[in-house]
Amino acid sequence: MMETDCLFCRIVAGEIPATVVRETDTTLAFRDIAPKAPVHVLVIPKEHYADVVTLTEADPGLAGDVLGTAAVVAETEGLVADGFRLIFNTGPYGGQEVFHAHAHVLGGEPLGPMLAR
Ligand code: 5GP
Ligand code: ZN
Repeated sequence: MMETDCLFCRIVAGEIPATVVRETDTTLAFRDIAPKAPVHVLVIPKEHYADVVTLTEADPGLAGDVLGTAAVVAETEGLVADGFRLIFNTGPYGGQEVFHAHAHVLGGEPLGPMLAR
């Protein structure tokens, strides 16, 4: 179900442009508008779930689809040999800003320590 005030639902609907790198029946992968690394792709389920916990509890198969698309994106972006990072920011402590579940695929250079302190 589309949430009309959700940024990523509007990207899925084509109402807001995005640089799409991969699309499946159930997922969409597009470049982050403010990349934090040379490669920074967001992978989302087309269906709206607020975060990865809600998504996985409601539809574990769809959560698997998101992981599958993230893995293919990592391959096609050439990240697998040197390695990369896959992140689901969740809730206030996780720094989540967009409340439509999404995986960040980050790579293309050494990414440094896991957490900035
Ligand atoms: P979060 O902090 O919720 O894990 O990540 C949200 C991400 O969405 C951020 O990295 C931010 O740069 C990205 N973002 C925010 N607005 C847009 C947009 O309109 N288009 C795209 N492609 N990315 C966006
Ligand atoms: Zn949404």
